[in-house]
Amino acid sequence: MYEDALKRLDSIVKKAQTAAKMTFPKEAIDILRYPRRVHSVNFSVRTSKGLQVVNAYRVQHNDALGPTKGGLRFHPSVDLEEVKALAFWMTFKNALLGLPFGGAKGGIAIDAKSYTVQDIELISREFMRQMHPYLGPRRDIPAPDMYTNAQIMGYMADEYYKITGEILPAVITGKPLGIGGSEGRSYSTALGGYHVLKEACSRLSLPGRRVVIQGFGNAGYHMARLLQEDGYTIIAVADSKGAVCHEKGIDVASLHAHKTEHGSVLGFSDASEIRLDDLLKIKTDVLILAALQDAITVRNVADVDARLIVELANGPITFAADEVLHQKGTIVLPDLLANAGGVTVSYFEWVQNLSGEVWDEQVVLTKLKARMLHVLEHLWDAYVDKYQLDFRTSAYLKALTTLATAQKERGWY
Ligand code: NAD
Repeated sequence: MYEDALKRLDSIVKKAQTAAKMTFPKEAIDILRYPRRVHSVNFSVRTSKGLQVVNAYRVQHNDALGPTKGGLRFHPSVDLEEVKALAFWMTFKNALLGLPFGGAKGGIAIDAKSYTVQDIELISREFMRQMHPYLGPRRDIPAPDMYTNAQIMGYMADEYYKITGEILPAVITGKPLGIGGSEGRSYSTALGGYHVLKEACSRLSLPGRRVVIQGFGNAGYHMARLLQEDGYTIIAVADSKGAVCHEKGIDVASLHAHKTEHGSVLGFSDASEIRLDDLLKIKTDVLILAALQDAITVRNVADVDARLIVELANGPITFAADEVLHQKGTIVLPDLLANAGGVTVSYFEWVQNLSGEVWDEQVVLTKLKARMLHVLEHLWDAYVDKYQLDFRTSAYLKALTTLATAQKERGWY
């Protein structure tokens, strides 16, 4: 994954030269090729399954713009390469959104679904005990990601307070509302993507309203809900166990209730089951990728039949597959922009925690919409229209400009 991320970076730097006559100092790019700090720990926890040795990582990729920030995921396949790539993308995302953060990411290599709630609390607290010297409101600020949630952020915040003796809610975002979480954070990733999608459809005059969604967790479920409320037809949804499809539309609230009760979309009576692999072959106006990285690769890209793709997941399209989609004329709203609503409201949470203010939901939602649309419009005018570039290249160029300047101003080159 990290190699793929670097290949994409090199290709974008080349495209900048040929298409936009933009050059970046080699030193600025060289610095971005390497994560500044990599923390890898192995710890043991007495769980209900017996003693477990857990591998965990936190990568602080680049802090030119401020303390590093990025999510923390629980997944059995998490490894250092994956976390490095995810941290790398956070550096660019935060720069693109104009947030005063560098990029980081964390991962704990466990299958969260196989543990009890008490086990998860023990693992979360032990992770904080191991990593606390490297974290802090002015150092590195985690947040939820795959298979982590507000409650887990709450356990970690509490453990940090116990270790340091200080109540510093800004050490972690995505917390429960009662302990300094922000209104709107729980669905902010999807809402940010929704605003970008709506604006893109309107400016491109894309009429279709058929939607396919891969991933039905925090990002995917809220996106499905928002789109259905707006009159879109959700024709197929997948989670890790399987996929369901109904040409006339799936009722999102009923499917969510079914998944909450049974742990999967499988078995939902108002839709037919399809193979996971077949989901991406469905002809659709909008495809939402809201699960794992590498969902579309050279292996399956030829089958993808979507007019517009929204990357709510991080890195769901590989570099090579992206080139094929570009040739096919598929519009991709890239992760750096499409899923940035989450980190944007995390930033609002951090600001509220540091200032002691509490903002109403409406204040948060208004600020989120304004920032997402401002960034999209800037990309459109300054890169997409001006140089005939795709959204991903445009997003990287804007982020690279910000990062190169900050690194120069810090005296790094
Ligand atoms: P989540 O754990 O809430 O949900 C993940 C969903 O993906 C689940 O429904 C799971 O069943 C499904 N899934 C897993 N493997 C799958 C597969 N092979 N095929 C189909 N579905 C599969 O996680 P989330 O927070 O919704 O995160 C999803 C993606 O969005 C991740 O890539 C994450 O990095 C990205 N993201 C999340 C946030 C956030 O605030 N939660 C912010 C930015 C980006």
